[in-house]
Amino acid sequence: MNGNPISLYFHIPFCTQKCPYCHFYSVVDEEPLKDRFFRALSAEVDRWKERLLGREIVSVYFGGGTPFLFGPKKIAHILNQLSAFSLSDTCEITLEANPETTYKAALEEYRSIGVNRLSIGAQSFAACFLTTLQRRHTPEDTLQAIVDSIASGFSNISIDLMYDLPGLTIATWKETLEAACRLPIQHLSLYNLTIEPKTAWFRKKSAIEALMPHDEESLLMYQAALDTTASYGFRQYEISAFAREGYSSRHNAGYWQGREFLGFGPSAFSFYNGQRFSNISNVIGYCAALESNASPIDVVDDTSSEKRLREMVAIGLRMNEGICLESLERVWGQADNDLLLTLDHLVSHQLLHRAGALFSLTDQGRVVYDALAVELI
Ligand code: SF4
Repeated sequence: MNGNPISLYFHIPFCTQKCPYCHFYSVVDEEPLKDRFFRALSAEVDRWKERLLGREIVSVYFGGGTPFLFGPKKIAHILNQLSAFSLSDTCEITLEANPETTYKAALEEYRSIGVNRLSIGAQSFAACFLTTLQRRHTPEDTLQAIVDSIASGFSNISIDLMYDLPGLTIATWKETLEAACRLPIQHLSLYNLTIEPKTAWFRKKSAIEALMPHDEESLLMYQAALDTTASYGFRQYEISAFAREGYSSRHNAGYWQGREFLGFGPSAFSFYNGQRFSNISNVIGYCAALESNASPIDVVDDTSSEKRLREMVAIGLRMNEGICLESLERVWGQADNDLLLTLDHLVSHQLLHRAGALFSLTDQGRVVYDALAVELI
């Protein structure tokens, strides 16, 4: 039996609205569909029970969508199903929430069923940018959500912030960073806005991009994030993630370190037994598959192992601790000449540090990570 640690991700695809920039799979909340989806999700967990027995589940992440809206009873049922496997007492169990729907009674219930980490989509502390993003919450809602979370017993709270927003200035971004860092939170994740296909904003891509900060401003915003978070005692442990001591996300670190994970729900990705695969990206199709006792897996990735090794190098470098090339080679096979030359080239340009088989980003490499990752892959 394989007793290696594993992480589980649950994609709960319901939201109160579709935000114009969002490229995650989600649908607008519908009660009857939620019940049908809940039965399908529970059936999907059952399909994996034999393979999960004996595995150490180190993290469970309820993302989406807005999983907070799914309700504590349904989440409790899923956690109960998992407790039949080996859900350890120290398992990190994260739930994503939006500030305007984070009600205190539900927070208390979530805490009591074992959720021990909240990830709150704050996005900005400037009301005008929340309006730009067409979010339904205000900065005050975010503050209230944090106060209520702490009062409900949560002591591991993360918030998401977005930069590169249309019209965002460095001064306003710094104010948002300062406001976030002064809060009694333990973790910050930063995202730069990108205009992706199949979003409402994609149709106006050029008009919106014309208002977004240009590349140099974007780098200054990133640098401001590094400086501000450090001055408030947050430690950067990944390109876009900052945590107080002891609060880096165990779940996210798993993705970057190549830990196996299973994704449940529509559009969820998995990496298991050396294979990557993803579920049907449609909640009705997903439910229908499980109702007829069929697998909801839609796409199995057949990327070559050379390319996977390159991807794992690029993903692993996101972590401050970097990668051990020899360890990755043991899983994905020998690095080819091209990859070795690219790594040498990045080291000679002071974008990577090298100590034997260990590679990590330099400060300069971290700032230009996106371009560097393209070169590696
Ligand atoms: S609430 Fe979050 S997941 Fe839902 S549509 Fe908006 S950005 Fe996407």
